Amino acid sequence: MTSQFYMPTRVVAGRDCVRVQGSLLLPLGGRALVVTGGHSARLCGALDDVTAALTANGQAFEVFDKAVPNPTVDSVYAGVERVREFGADFLVAIGGGSPLDTAKAIALVAAQEVPREALFTGGLRDEALPLACVPTTAGTGSEVTQYSILTNDEAGTKTSLALPCLFPRLAFLDGKYTLGLPRRVSVNTAIDALSHCVEGMLSNLAGDITDALAREGCGRICACLPGLERGELTEAERDSLLLASTLGGMVIAATGTTAVHAMGYSLTYHRGIEHGRANGLLLPAFLRFCARGNASLVDRALSACGMSSVDELEGALGRLLGERERLTEEEIRQYAAKAIQTGNIAKCAVRPTQTDLEEMYRESLG
Ligand code: NAP
Ligand code: FE
Repeated sequence: MTSQFYMPTRVVAGRDCVRVQGSLLLPLGGRALVVTGGHSARLCGALDDVTAALTANGQAFEVFDKAVPNPTVDSVYAGVERVREFGADFLVAIGGGSPLDTAKAIALVAAQEVPREALFTGGLRDEALPLACVPTTAGTGSEVTQYSILTNDEAGTKTSLALPCLFPRLAFLDGKYTLGLPRRVSVNTAIDALSHCVEGMLSNLAGDITDALAREGCGRICACLPGLERGELTEAERDSLLLASTLGGMVIAATGTTAVHAMGYSLTYHRGIEHGRANGLLLPAFLRFCARGNASLVDRALSACGMSSVDELEGALGRLLGERERLTEEEIRQYAAKAIQTGNIAKCAVRPTQTDLEEMYRESLG
């Protein structure tokens, strides 16, 4: 069996890397739209570092701080308008997965003049404005993936745009931006990263390279579970989680995500459950399902986590997640019917049916 690994993003990591290596932004263009959420990019110091680097480079910039959690199509097109008005020829995204994914979609739509009704229909060219990303959460790994995940109201779910041009040109990893993350965001994002690593190992596109990255990511994240539970992470743990999150992104760039993410999107879209939390609620049931079809695959993922059973992982996640949301039978049927239609299902090394998905929802949230 052969496998592939392609990840064209230049990753710069270390304390103050934006200021020290900011000249790497120079080849991206002359005028930047800096895409952020409402507050955190300013509060964590990343916006200051980016604007200082752009200023030192002599690059003009404008800040678009209207990215919202679970990015909407409206926010993307508002950003595209700002690109046009300002004449931006590249983007810098600062934030969690939401501003990063918003900027990717803006970069795509602005380069191709994509009409709104064509955004999710496929058939887009592989062309986007250059983008640099500065993650301020340790979770999505979006800074090294070719995905932009948007809220798709037409389909009533979240939909992933996936094109090679969506790989950012540059990613700056500086854990200092994550030092002030509130416990809830730290927990949810760490679980998202863990889910990327574990799902990557349970994907039929997994290979030796992604497995090596995933094992390292799982080990780092699980070493931080006690700190996440206490709500007290050391600076070294914050740095380690950010690295693990980027490793998780590299994994899913090659393997895609599986049934956990497919099922999680409905929890987020219909019930407002945060993305990482949704994955954490569903991951143990998916592992139990996979173990029935391929026990050794699941054992390898568990051992990467330093766990001896799914129950042990479920216990650790349960302590982080607290009280679970509950679904009605009607919701379970509706969400499973949506999840089965996603491309993620075909990527599962042990492939679930719609009934299996219903059973996993029931086991997790029934
Ligand atoms: P997020 O939605 O980007 O941010 C969640 C919250 O955290 C926001 O309120 C944000 O505030 C705040 N925040 C961000 N950085 C902070 C900091 N340093 N200090 C304090 N608060 C901070 O959360 P996320 O979990 O990182 O991203 C989730 C999104 O990414 C979902 O839409 C998911 O589908 C997507 N995702 C994408 C990929 C991919 O490969 N593209 C992979 C997995 C998930 P502000 O709004 O003020 O910034
Ligand atoms: Fe995710």
